[in-house]
Amino acid sequence: GYRSRSSYKLKQLDEDADLLGHGDTVVDLGAAPGGWLQVAAEAVGETGTVVGVDLQRIEDLDEHDVETIRGDMTEERTRHYLREAVGEGGADVVVSDMAPNMTGEYSLDHARSVHLARQAFDVALELLEPGGDFVVKVFQGEDLDALRADVSEEFEYVKTNSPPASRDASSEVYLVAKGLLTAPVEIGD
Ligand code: SAM
Repeated sequence: GYRSRSSYKLKQLDEDADLLGHGDTVVDLGAAPGGWLQVAAEAVGETGTVVGVDLQRIEDLDEHDVETIRGDMTEERTRHYLREAVGEGGADVVVSDMAPNMTGEYSLDHARSVHLARQAFDVALELLEPGGDFVVKVFQGEDLDALRADVSEEFEYVKTNSPPASRDASSEVYLVAKGLLTAPVEIGD
């Protein structure tokens, strides 16, 4: 069985947007307790690679080729370990289910969620290969549109998705960004 109910959210996002492919390298940010890691590992198979990062320790998974890093994604040190784990080949998919500790003060929780989402966006731009996909959870609020606009500049298209498995839970949505664009080539001199 899956470690968390969250697993079904990634399954639904994948069914909707065709994210996870056989042999892919997938980076999962905010991966504990490991439900998304299980779904990703199944999808990429033995030839794929999955790397998960979380503040919390993630118990070992049965699946092969799942590497986990314990660390804070807002720290450069953690990003360094993540770059090493992903290697030269880069990533095909970066997913982030990171969420702040809830204070109950809505605007603060929203701001922290957007901050984490922007960290994930930076990491996606750094690690993804051209054509790669990015999924990020964010709590709805006033800064969501600006985040979505920034993400959409870098990808072929972006959708805002609220998978059925997460509809009961609050105000979270997922931005699903497909196809990282390559930087435009400057022609002439
Ligand atoms: N997708 C996971 C699963 O299927 O098991 C559930 C993820 S849970 C909703 C959100 C996670 O984000 C928490 O485990 C939390 O520790 C992690 N998180 C929050 N801030 C983080 C940060 N700065 N760096 C790394 N992980 C973080």
